[in-house]
Amino acid sequence: MIQGEEIQRIGVLTSGGDAPGMNAAIRAVVRSCIYFGKEAVGIFRGYDGLISGDMKNLDSRSVSNIIQRGGTILKSARSAEFRTVEGRQKAYENILKFGIQGLVVIGGDGTFRGAGIFSEEYGIPVIGIPGTIDNDLNGTDYTIGYDTAVNTAAQAIDKVRDTASSHNRLFFIEVMGRDSGQIALRSSIAAGAEATIIPEKPMGVDELVRILEKGAGRKKSSSLVVVAEGGKPGHSIDLAREVNERFSYYDTKVTILGHLLRGGSPSVADRVLASRLGVVAVESLLNNKSAVMIGVVNNQINFTPFAQATSNVDNFEQELLRIANILSV
Ligand code: ATP
Repeated sequence: MIQGEEIQRIGVLTSGGDAPGMNAAIRAVVRSCIYFGKEAVGIFRGYDGLISGDMKNLDSRSVSNIIQRGGTILKSARSAEFRTVEGRQKAYENILKFGIQGLVVIGGDGTFRGAGIFSEEYGIPVIGIPGTIDNDLNGTDYTIGYDTAVNTAAQAIDKVRDTASSHNRLFFIEVMGRDSGQIALRSSIAAGAEATIIPEKPMGVDELVRILEKGAGRKKSSSLVVVAEGGKPGHSIDLAREVNERFSYYDTKVTILGHLLRGGSPSVADRVLASRLGVVAVESLLNNKSAVMIGVVNNQINFTPFAQATSNVDNFEQELLRIANILSV
C-alpha cells in the first residue's frame, strides 16, 4: 500500500491479553468500514493469524450481538513468530494476498511495539486501539477493559468482605496488573479495603502490620488487603504468611482473583470507549494517519505515536494513592 492511496480494505485484529470491550471495538471498526463503503477483514489470533493467513471478510451481521460479550470473537494470541523478520515478512505477504491496505490493531504495549516495527518495515498504515485491562499506556486516560476489570475486582472484594466479617478474618486479595497497581488501587478504594500493596509505592511488612494493628485496635471485624500481582502471580501467599507470623489477631486467608478479571460483560464505560475508538480508528486510516494509538484524554480524542505510547509509561493516578491513605485511617 502506498501512503495516500485510497484504502478499500481494512484488517482488524486483537492481540496480547484479551480484555472486555475488545468485541465492542471490533464491532465499531467493522460497522464504520461499512458506513464509509469499505470492506472489513477479521484476522484471527492476533499476529499469528496474519502470518498464517487465518482471516475472513466481516459484514455488519457478523458483529451482531457481540457488544455486550467479554473476550474477543477474533481470538487473541501472543505471537513469537511476529517478533522475527521472517514472521513479519510472511505477514506482509498475506497483507498483499488478501488485499489489506490498512490495519487496526487492538491490544496493549507489545501489540503497538510490533505494529510500529511492521508499519515502518513495510509502509502499511496501522492504527492502534488500546485494549488491555492494565491501563498501562501513555496517551489515553483509560484503556478498553480496565473499567470492567476494576468493577469485577470491586464486586469480588465486596463478596470477600461479607465472609471476612462473619468470621473475623484478614484476607489478602490478589488482583491482576502486570507492572501496574492501578486495578488494585482503584478497586481497593471502591471496596473500602484497609490497605493496598502496589509496585508503584512498595510497602514493607512492618508498615502493613502497623496498619492492621490499628484496625484491630479499633475492633474491626475484618481486614482486607488488596495486592497487585505485579509480575509475580501468587506472591500474596508469601506476604500473608509473613504477616501472619507477626500478627495473629485475625484468621488469615488468601484469594487470588487471577483471570476472573479478564472475563465478563464489558461495562458501559468500556463499551462506549471502544465504540468511540473503533470509529475514529477507521476515520484515521481513511485520513492517511498511521503508526499512532488513539486514546481519550480529558474526554477528547488523542493521537499518540506508538513509540511514545509504550515508552516510560506514566499514567499512574497519584491522587488516588493520597485518597486511599486518607480513607484507610
Ligand atoms: P497486554 O498488555 O494485555 O499483555 P500486549 O499487547 O502488551 O497486551 P504482548 O504479548 O506483550 O501483549 O504483545 C502482543 C504481541 O505483539 C506479541 O505476542 C508479539 O507478537 C507482538 N510484539 C510485541 N513486542 C514486539 C516486538 N518488539 N517486535 C515485534 N512484535 C512484537
